[in-house]
Amino acid sequence: MDPLLLTPGPLTTDPAVRAAMRRDYGSRDPAFVALCTRVRERLRALAPEPEAFTAIPLQGSGTYAVEAMLGTLVPRGGGVAVLVHGVYGERVVDILRRMGRHHRAFVAVEGSAPDLQALDRGLADDPLLTHVFTVHSETTTGQLLPVEAISTVAERRGRRLLVDAMSSLGAIALDGVVADGIASSANKCLEGVPGLGFVLARREALGASAGNAPSVSLDLHAQWERLERDGQYRFTPPTQVLAALDVALELHAIQGGVPARGARYAENMRHLLTGMRALGFQPLLPPERQGPIIATFVAPSSPDWSFPAFYDYLRESGFAIYPGSLARTPSFRIGCIGQVYPDDIDRFVAVVAAWCAKGRT
Ligand SMILES: *Cc1c(COP(=O)(O)O)cnc(C)c1O
Repeated sequence: MDPLLLTPGPLTTDPAVRAAMRRDYGSRDPAFVALCTRVRERLRALAPEPEAFTAIPLQGSGTYAVEAMLGTLVPRGGGVAVLVHGVYGERVVDILRRMGRHHRAFVAVEGSAPDLQALDRGLADDPLLTHVFTVHSETTTGQLLPVEAISTVAERRGRRLLVDAMSSLGAIALDGVVADGIASSANKCLEGVPGLGFVLARREALGASAGNAPSVSLDLHAQWERLERDGQYRFTPPTQVLAALDVALELHAIQGGVPARGARYAENMRHLLTGMRALGFQPLLPPERQGPIIATFVAPSSPDWSFPAFYDYLRESGFAIYPGSLARTPSFRIGCIGQVYPDDIDRFVAVVAAWCAKGRT
């Protein structure tokens, strides 16, 4: 038996999504090209202003899409104010440094609220910061960042916003967010399989970005031009991944779209937090900053605590969890996304309770 994945992706998918991968697809076959076009249209519908946006899928994991978004939408002479609340913000600083793009990091203690006044002052002080970048759901901790308020600061200062909505798009609406680029991937809240990232880009900004990208394979503008011209990818597409995403997006729509998906994850999260708190586990975040995607728990301080032993016990009981990645505090994470329902979370909590009853924490 495969374990239920309580991880932030790859995650447990619907059998129909996996079944879509049991075929060979010719990448130039008209039926496959039509499938790709349908996927792009469905992704575009997830943008806050769909009529002004286009969706550009890109081979690779989510980070490839983030790197392509930054390299393509930020002009060579531009710069980025980066909000850093965990490893995904740090990764963007690393990407910009390697690209040689001007940037300034606004680093917060993991899990703390962003200092929007500091961001506002930073933008006022440095006219070279043409863009603001934020993660929406910081998967390092599970924190949901106030992306609308961040969007307002950027707009007031006349700067363009870029968002990593990797672990939120499809489950948490971006209503009211004015962005030029939103990056995500197939294998998080859309419940597809890994191998494809994508960027929802404002057509106007993308249209003005030819020649910006310092990379051939991560050039969103070139990828877009080709897809628009004949529906083809420039380089080999992950055909089975696209076929799986096509079914996953169909299920997403049938099941009630963004509100229904977000509500199921939020219900999972309520069951998880209530159950784990009752067993004495301490969530890292206060409720007002806890998102519905993943929760970080502080590791028990008992000298008997061992994450590998805890992991193995849960794995044998049918659940895979995620290690923590906080800089200082030992922790572990439990994801609420994928084909996971409140009953599954209740079964998980019962297994953790059995572990606690054995005196292992
Ligand atoms: C998953 C994730 C990414 C991308 O990670 P990959 O390993 O490249 O798929 C980026 N940002 C956030 C917030 C994520 O959760």
